[in-house]
Amino acid sequence: MTTTASPHALPSYLQADHLGPWGTYLQQVDRVTPYLGPLARWVETLKRPKRCLIVDVPILLDNGTIAHFEGYRVQHNTSRGPGKGGVRFHQDVTLSEVMALSAWMSVKNAAVNVPYGGAKGGVRVNPKTLSLGELERVTRRYTSEIGIIIGPSKDIPAPDVNTNEQIMAWMMDTYSMNVGETATGVVTGKPLALGGSLGRRDATGRGVYTVGVEAAHQIGLKIAGARVAVQGFGNVGSVSARLFAEAGARIVAVQDHAGTIYREAGLDLAALAEHVRLTGSVTGFASAEPLASAAFWQVPCDILIPAALEGQITAANAGLITARMVIEGANGPTTPEADDILQERGVLVVPDVIANAGGVTVSYFEWVQDFSSFFWSEDEINARLVRIMKEAFAVIWQVAQDNRVSLRTATFIVACKRILHAREMRGLYP
Ligand code: NAD
Repeated sequence: MTTTASPHALPSYLQADHLGPWGTYLQQVDRVTPYLGPLARWVETLKRPKRCLIVDVPILLDNGTIAHFEGYRVQHNTSRGPGKGGVRFHQDVTLSEVMALSAWMSVKNAAVNVPYGGAKGGVRVNPKTLSLGELERVTRRYTSEIGIIIGPSKDIPAPDVNTNEQIMAWMMDTYSMNVGETATGVVTGKPLALGGSLGRRDATGRGVYTVGVEAAHQIGLKIAGARVAVQGFGNVGSVSARLFAEAGARIVAVQDHAGTIYREAGLDLAALAEHVRLTGSVTGFASAEPLASAAFWQVPCDILIPAALEGQITAANAGLITARMVIEGANGPTTPEADDILQERGVLVVPDVIANAGGVTVSYFEWVQDFSSFFWSEDEINARLVRIMKEAFAVIWQVAQDNRVSLRTATFIVACKRILHAREMRGLYP
């Protein structure tokens, strides 16, 4: 028997995985819909990515065999401008995850009011198993495959989990070779020598710190002397930790993919960074005690910064968290159930879509500098970043107060209204 799908039914790939990141995102959209007023008639737009590309990434391995990896690029929404969002290399990447990450980029870019839509990419590969040459071949072939939809005014990738400046350099070079001109603006997060921006490497962590300080001020929490626990000690986690420590906070616990360490008096972050550089993880760091990974969530602390992967704070551990404030450095680290538990317990959650927007904000500066071929000083960049983050946070805080909603719903209200207003002004084509 054949069935005819209702014209309003979501395509099957959008319905699947309701417990995963895309399901989380859909629930977040449902929560914001009552606050959208007349713009709610466009809300379906937010539940359907504009474009999903799945590509095969075949490469020659060093041992002479051929391996195939699955790659994705999703452009969730481009109503406000070109797609923008990172590329993740991870063995667990799925289309559904990339869809959710692309949607959160739409919301984030609108929340800080940079003129971008949202996009995200990924390759389902564990880069730690590849040689440098193999990594370069994966990057170049993936870039070539998604080259039909990216470009400086179409969609601009950037680093995310397990991708870095070198990978951005290879992406920029591959795209440039294919189009026959040096196109520095096709990716951000590049090395300085190739049109990268000062301040980009620290930008996400600096944004986490900036909105964290603003939020702490609102709830009367002093940064000096505050105890901070950080999950993830990569780009976002390590920089956030360093800036909080410089402001007088104590980083009492750090967890990464391999283990958890704790020191009541505060960890020596410079020594820890060197240990991670040499050994690849925080485990075995001499001047700290190891903890079982589940114990991380109940470490006594004032501020908790998840800065690793999504789906980390769940209904199972949200009740154990002692912090007064959670600042989401990672994308999607808190499930909707956990969000509710934290809210009921009076824990302030500063959501990813504003907390980690510092990275894309300086990516925007990088893109502007590339287009104008005129580069700004680091002080200028940091000052502009801090101003944008503070202003965005102030608007969102006020919307949260006015509507008596969480900061996440408030950020979605601000961002979704901006996206859907643009959508409405553009109208439907044809
Ligand atoms: P990264 O690769 O530099 O670091 C990731 C860290 O997470 C590493 O320390 C790793 O050991 C740890 N980790 C991985 N799996 C873990 C697990 N199961 N448990 C505990 N720790 C684990 O990545 P990043 O760029 O710092 O990104 C971290 C998060 O921040 C991601 O959610 C990413 O999407 C988000 N983010 C990054 C940026 C950016 O500019 N890099 C911007 C916005 C959001």
